[in-house]
Amino acid sequence: MKFADIVINRPIEGPFTYSIPESLEGTIKTGSVVEVSFGNKMVTGYVVGLSDKCDIERIKPISGIIDKNLNLEPEMLELTKWISKYYYSSWGEAISAAIPGVLKKSSKTRKSAREEKEIEFIDGSSERLTLNPDQKDALDSITRSMDEKIHRVFLLHGVTGSGKTEVYLQAIAHVLELGLSSIILVPEISLTPQTVARFKARFKEKIAVLHSRLLGSRRISEWNRISSGEAQIIIGARSAVFAPVKKLGLIVVDEEYETSYKQEDVPRYNARDVAIKRAEISKAVVILGSATPSLESFYAAKNGKYTLVELSERIDSRLLPTVDIVDMREEMTRAKKVPIFSQKLREWIEKDIREKKQVILFLNRRGFSTFVNCRKCGYVIKCKRCSVSLTYHFDKKKLVCHHCNFNMEPPQICPECNAAYLKYWGLGTEKVESELYRLFPGAVIARMDTDATQKRGTHDRVLSKFKDGNIDILIGTQMIAKGLDFPKVTLVGVISADTALNLPDYRSAERTFNLLTQVAGRAGRSDLGGRVIIQSYTPQHYSIQAAKTHDYNTFYDKEINLRKELNLPPFCHMVSLTLRGRKEERVFNASDNLRAAIEKEDKSKNIEILGPAPSPISKMKGMYRWNIFLRSESAENITPILKKVLDKNKSSGIIVTVDVDPN
Ligand SMILES: [Zn+2]
Ligand SMILES: [Zn+2]
Repeated sequence: MKFADIVINRPIEGPFTYSIPESLEGTIKTGSVVEVSFGNKMVTGYVVGLSDKCDIERIKPISGIIDKNLNLEPEMLELTKWISKYYYSSWGEAISAAIPGVLKKSSKTRKSAREEKEIEFIDGSSERLTLNPDQKDALDSITRSMDEKIHRVFLLHGVTGSGKTEVYLQAIAHVLELGLSSIILVPEISLTPQTVARFKARFKEKIAVLHSRLLGSRRISEWNRISSGEAQIIIGARSAVFAPVKKLGLIVVDEEYETSYKQEDVPRYNARDVAIKRAEISKAVVILGSATPSLESFYAAKNGKYTLVELSERIDSRLLPTVDIVDMREEMTRAKKVPIFSQKLREWIEKDIREKKQVILFLNRRGFSTFVNCRKCGYVIKCKRCSVSLTYHFDKKKLVCHHCNFNMEPPQICPECNAAYLKYWGLGTEKVESELYRLFPGAVIARMDTDATQKRGTHDRVLSKFKDGNIDILIGTQMIAKGLDFPKVTLVGVISADTALNLPDYRSAERTFNLLTQVAGRAGRSDLGGRVIIQSYTPQHYSIQAAKTHDYNTFYDKEINLRKELNLPPFCHMVSLTLRGRKEERVFNASDNLRAAIEKEDKSKNIEILGPAPSPISKMKGMYRWNIFLRSESAENITPILKKVLDKNKSSGIIVTVDVDPN
């Protein structure tokens, strides 16, 4: 073979043909990672095909091979090709997303890569637990598929505390007996230390943990342990779906509805859906697990596309925590102000810390006050670069933009009218913390959000202090919503259930229900029992009512009917186009033109076009943003048309991003 077809990490499709120099003949294979000159730059290229003939004159040679041992398997090429088509990227961009950065550098530059300390995981138990009848049935139907070597997707739906992890562990043990490998995807490694610890304890040296802090040579050695077959169980976040395992038997996607499975950059893939595709290619089994499955997955399970297995009981028949909803409108009338804590929540916190039990409080907003305005003229202090109000941070004594990190000293007088009546509104975790200190002076209180855990090791330290019982009240954002399993937590308080509900997003009800259910699941994980108190200004909302009774099915029935009525996913696929630019008028004009071009190109009228309209945050980092939403029965109706239209309709100064199945 004298020539190689090569794709690169650029938004141009290719492939481009290069000649193979004599010195590399026989070394270069389909799947090799090479160095080529492109334009006048050296870039990393991926060999996707070889040939003997080439019609192009003046062909450039391949400059070198990055690593002789690094070779992409045919399955990986097929998978990345699918990703590039489905998620609208070039093949080279999709392959690039599948390989860790350090492996794409030549060995010279690799050495300079930073080394990082291992995450320390809390100890886990290695004991194999006895399954209850529910768990046993679930495991049996999963292992049967494995023995028959057929690709099947299982949706493991189980209430929090029903023992999903033990089913995963025993399914993996079965895969291991068959001589196959498993991949376990978790939303974020550092937020689920206890789950990871259980896997490590059970499978010891057979396991490889891939996480974002793994850099440099550690990342390379883990990659090698996986591709050599030494590590047969791989646990990691989103990108672990690309782990170079051979003989794949199982992929587990834990908390499959999680938004962190979606990659924010090109290619904007969803690791859950990539996992299903990869398993289909390798004839492997997939387990999607959750207490609150996404509407898409549950719908697929109800319609027989996936196999539904349910765990309806908690282990040891432990009761689900009691959930109380407090109507904050009544509290406001009674207190004649906007209270942070309802009387009920305050009394229960008091009682629990008196009895030396532990409390978790949840609020999904960081900072102290979430906006500042002038009482005289109404002026709201906003970010100069984004169309959002600035949040006051008490720790830093600064006003901060949560989108671009712009910050400033809080002004003493109104920048608009010079009045000295600036008022701080809204509620963040910092304010809840300071109010807790005031109300419960003797209690040990800790806060966990991205501000409080910026310093390395803080996160792990707080968790282990909490585990040892040295913290009475833990207040935090969604960082504490999932995965934590602390038996002494008997009370969980949700300071405001309404934060997600008010977002302009068709998934807001689903998000709210999921979050409340996950948070509630932190309470009552032992015989001490548990109670959850949810504060809300819209207590009658069905997502909040369903969370009260832990009733996924009722929530699902209500929500799926709404989705059907409004023709929203899972009844269609959406593609979101975002146009960005510094001149608002040009962004608008480009959006309008793009809409017209799509309309014209869509001859069979399969696509419904919504917009253009300004994005919910209409200006970010100095760029104006407009959206167009496209929907159709399948994403494959949309992407080929986009390909034609976007290539033809480029406007200078305008950046267009395409997001298929957006979050
Ligand atoms: Zn003013
Ligand atoms: Zn900003």
